[in-house]
Amino acid sequence: MALRLALGNYRPAKQPDPLGRDYIGYFPRMTEAEAWQAGRGVWPLDQKVVARERFTLITGQGVVRAIAEIGGLSVHGDKKAVEGRLLAPGHPMYDAYFNRPDPLANASRNSVTYGDLPEEEPFRLRPCGCGCGQDVERAFVPGHELRAIQSRVREHFGGDVLAFVTWVDKQLPDGGTAA
Ligand SMILES: [Zn+2]
Repeated sequence: MALRLALGNYRPAKQPDPLGRDYIGYFPRMTEAEAWQAGRGVWPLDQKVVARERFTLITGQGVVRAIAEIGGLSVHGDKKAVEGRLLAPGHPMYDAYFNRPDPLANASRNSVTYGDLPEEEPFRLRPCGCGCGQDVERAFVPGHELRAIQSRVREHFGGDVLAFVTWVDKQLPDGGTAA
């Protein structure tokens, strides 16, 4: 999922501002860096939920004004700010959404919302297939493919690799001769 943070109206930031800003909110022709700085905080964000997110979209007046890859959260009292780096042209998320209508627009007036976007699928974190509990972009943490296979050979074939290979071949419709 992606995190969408909507900018409100341009207004002076309440001082002292935890991110050192003089103003927050949207104004016309703001740069991506300005949109990011105005929109990345501070919000009542759930650390556990955000930890599963990879990208943040900052919107102003219903249009995506900046997109960043989430690096973490900084804590400011009972609120948090997203830390990360802005994406640039050439990144699939940027090319699909920058300067386009908010893809997560909904009836809710909440500035903070979450949603699934098809372009983030290749970047989505998922639990490693070996069961170690680490999150990765691909199916396995590097090297854990072997670990996953070895643990199955150990558990179900008493560590006998030939028995495992023979069993796999028998499951395949062509008898495993394709290789
Ligand atoms: Zn693993």
